[in-house]
Amino acid sequence: MDRRTLVKIGGLGALGLGVGGCSARAASDVVRRATSLRLVPVDASWDRVIRTTVGLRPFRHSGFVVKAERFDEKTLIHNYGHGGAGMSLSWGTGFLAAELALEQESRSAAVIGSGVAGLTTARQLQRMGFDVTIYAMTVPPNTTSNMSYAQFTPTSGIIGIRARTPKWDNQFRRAVGVAYKQLQLLAGSEYGISWLNQYTLLSGPPTRDDVPLDEESDETDRLLPDAYRTKPVLLGPGEHPFPSQYVHSRPAMRIEPSIYLDALVSEFRLAGGKVMIRKFETREEIGKLEENVIFNCTGLGAKALFGDEELTPVKGQLTVLIPQSEVNYSTAGGIPGASRDTRGFSPHMQPRSDGIVLGGTSERGESTLEPNEEAMRRIVDAHIAFFNAMWSPPSVSAL
Ligand SMILES: Cc1cc2nc3c(=O)[nH]c(=O)nc-3n(C[C@H](O)[C@H](O)[C@H](O)COP(=O)(O)OP(=O)(O)OC[C@H]3O[C@@H](n4cnc5c(N)ncnc54)[C@H](O)[C@@H]3O)c2cc1C
Repeated sequence: MDRRTLVKIGGLGALGLGVGGCSARAASDVVRRATSLRLVPVDASWDRVIRTTVGLRPFRHSGFVVKAERFDEKTLIHNYGHGGAGMSLSWGTGFLAAELALEQESRSAAVIGSGVAGLTTARQLQRMGFDVTIYAMTVPPNTTSNMSYAQFTPTSGIIGIRARTPKWDNQFRRAVGVAYKQLQLLAGSEYGISWLNQYTLLSGPPTRDDVPLDEESDETDRLLPDAYRTKPVLLGPGEHPFPSQYVHSRPAMRIEPSIYLDALVSEFRLAGGKVMIRKFETREEIGKLEENVIFNCTGLGAKALFGDEELTPVKGQLTVLIPQSEVNYSTAGGIPGASRDTRGFSPHMQPRSDGIVLGGTSERGESTLEPNEEAMRRIVDAHIAFFNAMWSPPSVSAL
């Protein structure tokens, strides 16, 4: 999600304050004129909810870890802690991690973990000529990666403010470069990767003095070279059908996790890779593997396995509605009042072939996988209000 733009969403309560300066306008008062932008509203209602999923993002205050260390007679290479950006960055950090193994004589590697970090690391290793076995206690569809909203959001919840170091920044920039190119090349139905327009509601015309809601992302955003972000186009009143005066429109890359991760597993197997279902309780058990080069891609699992106390779960919840193939855009932000008082709640919608995905929560330090009923209610109600307030062209609503 575009965090720079998202920072402005916090002011949605001031929607309508924009140009005319009419304070406290209700959503229904926003003038929504007919527009040439013909978008079908999501049919959002409680009757159409088909599931709610929960995932725990593996967040580290000082960012993801990609580094090698001696492990008795073996080499252990870490690649974990991608926070809210693992689906975006993994081809890149997988490449950096695999590169570290090239110094080793052995061309046989074990990868622990079969989420997006493990699978892409394994593929990068195969491309460099390694024989790879993945060991994991769960495989897709039962990984955190499958619970992802999965847009290309490389800076989202990736590192704590002021925790960056020049070394990490350098790794981050290289990782984004590799990942962005790789994901673009996988676009198509086979991998479930595609581009669509994202519309982000603004509180008014963009100004310089907007206060960031999420300083961490805003700060990291500055690291991202312009080449790796798509440029937003500002749409004003009458130019879009959304319940807001101003909207940013920009192309966004969407990943459908269930298609993408299964495709990665198939590709890995086709290239001769093996998958073993196995849970490791201790570091010592890992040391007994026959491979001399071992990759730790266990996400949040690295906390217990390698004692990384910095790892913190950030709970995210998605509620999914019955698919609507005619919805071909995503949205970020809500209508006035929907998200004002709750930091960490920013409604967003992305259509996929397995459903219309509604998200918006980030609960740091929360480690339960039980859906939070209150969060679900907020997410669904915010989107019902949003899409009910969206202007729909008569020809489309008559369908
Ligand atoms: C709601 C939500 C929305 C998100 N949205 C986005 C987004 O829009 N864009 C984006 O880029 N990212 C997003 N993310 C973040 C992204 O999903 C994660 O960063 C990513 O999935 C982490 O991948 P991983 O492979 O490191 O971990 P996982 O997917 O958790 O995989 C870890 C693997 O390690 C294995 N494992 C762990 N411990 C052990 C053990 N002891 N023994 C054996 N195996 C073990 C597991 O079984 C699993 O196979 C989102 C996440 C959530 C929850």
